[in-house]
Amino acid sequence: DKRSSGTESMAVDKFLGGLLATGFDEESCISRYQAALYRKTSSHKPSAYLVSKLRKYEELHKRCGPDTESYRRTLKKLSSSHANGTTDCNYIVWTPSNGLGNRIISMASSFLYAVLTNRVLLVDHGSDMAGIFCEPFPDTSWLLPMDFPLTDQLHSLQPGNVHSYGHLLKMNNLDISTVSQSDLYFVPYLFLLPSFQQELGKLFPDKEAVFHHLARYLFHPSNQAWGLITRFYQAYLASADQKIGLQVRVFNRKASPVSVVQKQILGCIKKEKLLPQVDERKLIASPSKNKTSRAVTIASLYPEYYESIKSMYWMNPTVNGDVIGVYQPSHEEVQHWGNNIHNLKAWAEINILSLSDVLMTSSWSTFGYVAQGLGGLKPWILHVPAGNQTTDRPCPRAKSMEPCFLTPPDYHRIPNTRGRPHAVSPVPHVMKCEDAYNGIKLF
Ligand code: GDP
Repeated sequence: DKRSSGTESMAVDKFLGGLLATGFDEESCISRYQAALYRKTSSHKPSAYLVSKLRKYEELHKRCGPDTESYRRTLKKLSSSHANGTTDCNYIVWTPSNGLGNRIISMASSFLYAVLTNRVLLVDHGSDMAGIFCEPFPDTSWLLPMDFPLTDQLHSLQPGNVHSYGHLLKMNNLDISTVSQSDLYFVPYLFLLPSFQQELGKLFPDKEAVFHHLARYLFHPSNQAWGLITRFYQAYLASADQKIGLQVRVFNRKASPVSVVQKQILGCIKKEKLLPQVDERKLIASPSKNKTSRAVTIASLYPEYYESIKSMYWMNPTVNGDVIGVYQPSHEEVQHWGNNIHNLKAWAEINILSLSDVLMTSSWSTFGYVAQGLGGLKPWILHVPAGNQTTDRPCPRAKSMEPCFLTPPDYHRIPNTRGRPHAVSPVPHVMKCEDAYNGIKLF
């Protein structure tokens, strides 16, 4: 495979057009610069303004991050009950909730908000995300130190809490602590706020590549995760002519019976020609010189979809003689909470999907959003049926690779532009999502 051979590596821009800073210890995070050899070169270049803003952010983070004089000063203020006044460093503390996909899109959103408001992002990865990602910023850490005094309160932050934003506002003390609480991709909403519009326009002239750049900048698989990703890639995908990722996320197994979801997937494959059909009348494919080999990776909590698709391509030849390999890295059955290895597998699978040439994701799934964003792919979005009926349009193609902000606040107050079927706002690049009627996304 061209992308993974060392000789080609010279031609690959491992810094992604200046998105990634130089000067990291490469051995400590092999994926940071090696991922470019595995992924398709992005057709979306970061703007020079974004690049310079990231370098400035990195300086700020280095000056204000853990183990600095400024950080210690802020801690002191936080622990005194009558904290007031300003500090030169302001922070956003991110704490985890929900699955890994939700966590990644909300961290990316919080980071962008931090950049826009000159704050420093510190993340609490606890034990279940420990060692999954590399540090994104040079010569400092984005991990919230263990002894951060408010950790317990952050997990159960309620309105009225003495450290809540509302309370601090009331006490006329805005600068000490700001808490961002969302497990979603709220970036499209920032584009609707007049105070950020101009700056966002300069940072991201290319509106559909916001998450793509943020994700490739922030989330580098740790060496342990990169081991899982590259071993899978080399064993099953590297020699294939084409790599196809199918992400099957079923939120409610009772409402969406296996046989119906299976039928919907096959309907999608056929309608969109993602894979060749099988010829049930033949035992052996007709001899042909150019057999295309296609490697299909299925990511799902469950084994059934993989079992039946693998079996289908084993029992019958394809109509055109293509050779189809079907693989599934894991089937965890249930979503585990607080489990580091479970999250490690999920992160590896998100990355493996992102290496696909062709991707099918599932509606409403943030897991799929991260894969498409990292990969720079516009996926076919499987509409997972609730009930016994499959649909005529099983998997409409996404029009942009951005994640959907599934439940924006006061959505109904965003004016609807007449005459444009998808437009929901006066900002032309914020529109309705393909997979969620009330959601908004960037195009
Ligand atoms: P979402 O619920 O689909 O929006 O995605 P999240 O990532 O936020 O939460 C789902 C969680 O369930 C993941 O983080 C994993 O822990 C687990 N999960 C769901 N689908 C898969 C899968 O295909 N592979 C693996 N390994 N885990 C999965």
